Amino acid sequence: MAIDHGAPLLNITAEPAPALLEPLLAGGWIAPWSGLMALLEGESKLHIGRPDMLGQGSLYGGVGGMDGLCRGLLQLAARPSAPSVTSHYRTLVRFLDVADTGTWRLRDRSGSLVGEAEWLVLSSTLLAHPRSRLLFDWPAVPMAEAAAKLGDLQLDHALTTIAGIRAEARSNLLLIVPEEDASPWRALPFTLVNFDAAAQQCWGLRRISIQPLADGRCTVVAHSSDAFAADHLDVYGSRSAVARLLALPPEAGREEQVIEALSQAVLQCLAPWIDAGSLERAAPQLMRWGAAFPVAPGLPQALMLCPGSRVGFCGDFLAGPGFGRIEGALRSAELLANALLQAGLG
Ligand SMILES: Cc1cc2nc3c(=O)[nH]c(=O)nc-3n(C[C@H](O)[C@H](O)[C@H](O)COP(=O)(O)OP(=O)(O)OC[C@H]3O[C@@H](n4cnc5c(N)ncnc54)[C@H](O)[C@@H]3O)c2cc1C
Repeated sequence: MAIDHGAPLLNITAEPAPALLEPLLAGGWIAPWSGLMALLEGESKLHIGRPDMLGQGSLYGGVGGMDGLCRGLLQLAARPSAPSVTSHYRTLVRFLDVADTGTWRLRDRSGSLVGEAEWLVLSSTLLAHPRSRLLFDWPAVPMAEAAAKLGDLQLDHALTTIAGIRAEARSNLLLIVPEEDASPWRALPFTLVNFDAAAQQCWGLRRISIQPLADGRCTVVAHSSDAFAADHLDVYGSRSAVARLLALPPEAGREEQVIEALSQAVLQCLAPWIDAGSLERAAPQLMRWGAAFPVAPGLPQALMLCPGSRVGFCGDFLAGPGFGRIEGALRSAELLANALLQAGLG
């Protein structure tokens, strides 16, 4: 069973669309989004069919779940003329260093070599942002530690800028409603309801995504507001990546309180359609996204490439159209790929 516990769709708002869109569609990895959107304004004014900023432009969803998009990207990267991508799932890159030859070396938590490369591309800020020290209790930021030995002013400038990027958090409630209770959920007049600023303040929710399953069950993902997540940042939730990566113990008590608060908010704002009984058997889980959405302005594109140290940055934290969304991540990857080719990476 797959639940889209993060982004439920992607939207393309600027022209021309990222070049990757067409092969992803042609390969059947993504498809036009076919859900029903609604916007909740204030306490109770529901507008069926009205999008918010994450629903503007052309909408697409992953086929078989949003990970279809990622599987498609990996598949497209593998060509007869180029070596395919080697994946290392469930491996946290913990240490980075540069050999005397200039080669970047990536190591896991035990210090074992995970990979070596002439160029290093960071598609996430985790190894370059001070939040990693708080999150993992690391003594230093891995990328800053590596950069200290390189004397590359462009890289130092990029890292200082990344260190200043703030992020919004989300606490997401995941519910799996069994078939016998799923009918009211499956009959809702929307599959994605977004909350405007006043509604977020009222309910502590940003979105509710309804995901009917082929076997009759229905999964429901309630995304908290930024303010709710900020108030409960210490509760990581047993579904969070950090809990699984660090094998953290369950947080008995606190996690249940957050689950209960989010469940009650969902039930109260969907009261016209859903009664409390329909959640009694829904196995609730909590997932915290500590850095869900970067806050603008992000890393300027002028700093995305640091040729002196052979480092590139891409991802949704790069400034530009689609910033903070999948669109921005795709666009930044294409920009960086072109810049790398121009820099001589064949
Ligand atoms: C709850 C939620 C809802 C969202 N809704 C939408 C939406 O509706 N539309 C939209 O466009 N966007 C949405 N987003 C944002 C969207 O998910 C991001 O913009 C997008 O995933 C960014 O892609 P990326 O490749 O830049 O980074 P990521 O998707 O964060 O990918 C970075 C990857 O690097 C891995 N990684 C990082 N550090 C390490 C390390 N040290 N070792 C190993 N692996 C590492 C991470 O595990 C991750 O898989 C949402 C995000 C959240 C959290």
